[in-house]
Amino acid sequence: MESNSDCLFCRIVAGEIPATVVRETETTLAFRDIGPQAPVHVLVIPKEHYADVATLAQADPALAGEVLGTAAVVAESEGLLADGFRMIFNTGPYGGQEVFHAHAHVLGGEPLGPMRS
Ligand code: 5GP
Repeated sequence: MESNSDCLFCRIVAGEIPATVVRETETTLAFRDIGPQAPVHVLVIPKEHYADVATLAQADPALAGEVLGTAAVVAESEGLLADGFRMIFNTGPYGGQEVFHAHAHVLGGEPLGPMRS
């Protein structure tokens, strides 16, 4: 499995940096965002290092699907399915991505309104 010792999220996968894990599968990890932007804000990542979701989806579509599946289970376990939620993959500099390990943001728990930026 590809891992990158300079990558923050690879270090969370390795247990070198603590995180509040809400779900773990063989291939994915879900943990609470350190700076939540909604009452529920969970990040879902593949354990294997891919720089962004586009790279992940092209290299390993099945793994990209597992990230989506884990995100859906997290949305359910966090009680977000009835009222709805937002799933975002910031991708690359113009997409506002700051951590270059593919991740889904799962946000909810209050009305989020339309996306503006
Ligand atoms: P991006 O802007 O790359 O889509 O999102 C990166 C996210 O990672 C941000 O929402 C930020 O709050 C979160 N984050 C940054 N450092 C850490 C950390 O050390 N632990 C956790 N749990 N989240 C982090």
